[in-house]
Amino acid sequence: MSAPRVGVLALQGDTREHLAALREAGADACTVRRVDELARVDGLVIPGGESTTMSHLLREFDLLESLRARLSEGMPAYGSCAGMILLATEIADAGVPGREALPLHGIDMTVRRNAFGRQVDSFEEDIPFDGLEGTVHAVFIRAPWVERVGAGVEVLASAAGHPVAVRQGRTLATAFHPEVTGDRRVHKLFVDSLS
Ligand code: GLN
Repeated sequence: MSAPRVGVLALQGDTREHLAALREAGADACTVRRVDELARVDGLVIPGGESTTMSHLLREFDLLESLRARLSEGMPAYGSCAGMILLATEIADAGVPGREALPLHGIDMTVRRNAFGRQVDSFEEDIPFDGLEGTVHAVFIRAPWVERVGAGVEVLASAAGHPVAVRQGRTLATAFHPEVTGDRRVHKLFVDSLS
């Protein structure tokens, strides 16, 4: 079986770290900025960054509706931080109208933007993660948390009493950034689910 082709949405955010993590996890990783590039991937990573800016660029690059369509047809995706926000069906505190973060409807959940940010901007914590041994070193940077999950959504990890890693089918989201640590287990979970 050849390596799954995984795209990283490369409009803004920490694209490079995800490309490296995906390659180390066994994927054939490439950047995605255009509709024809999106059409050729088996799965897509939406990186951390700023969800309002990424939403604006998704419109500018004419990718918003194609991406929503691919997700609704079942293309698996993995979103970290800003990517988690975008994968939601509903975003709380989405930003100023006209410049707000736009939901892509990849996972049936409500995500609150900058939820931890009001208490503490950034923090790190070792947290248990369902299906992975021991703990995962979770780096939170102006991170969101999940406020509601639909019936088909599994909660894989929590912090401060809120879900911070969830999965629906083969689509995965984390409020934290495994791409900035050397631990490739979360990326591997996603890549392995594609083959
Ligand atoms: N607060 C950012 C947003 O709203 C997310 C931060 C991140 O991705 N590290 O998109």
